Amino acid sequence: MHPSLCMGSGACRQFASTVYQLDDEGYLDLQLLQVPPELEGDAAYGAGACPNGAITVISDGPAIDRSAEDQQ
Ligand code: SF4
Repeated sequence: MHPSLCMGSGACRQFASTVYQLDDEGYLDLQLLQVPPELEGDAAYGAGACPNGAITVISDGPAIDRSAEDQQ
C-alpha cells in the first residue's frame, strides 16, 4: 500500500469490503496487509479498482489479474 497515493475514493472497499477497511475519513491508511489465501483474489480485485494505483498486491502463488473491468 502506498498511503500517499490514496485519495479516499473508496473504490477498494466497494469492490473488496472483506479486505479493505477505510479510516474515519475514508482513506486506506496502512502499509502492509496480509490476507489469507482465500481472500487473495478479492485483494487483487479491490487493488485493480483503485484509480490511483495505491495498492500493490504481492502473491506467493500464481499471478492474479482480476481488474475491476474484467469482473463486469
Ligand atoms: S481505491 Fe485507492 S484511492 Fe480509493 S480509498 Fe482505496 S486505496 Fe485509497
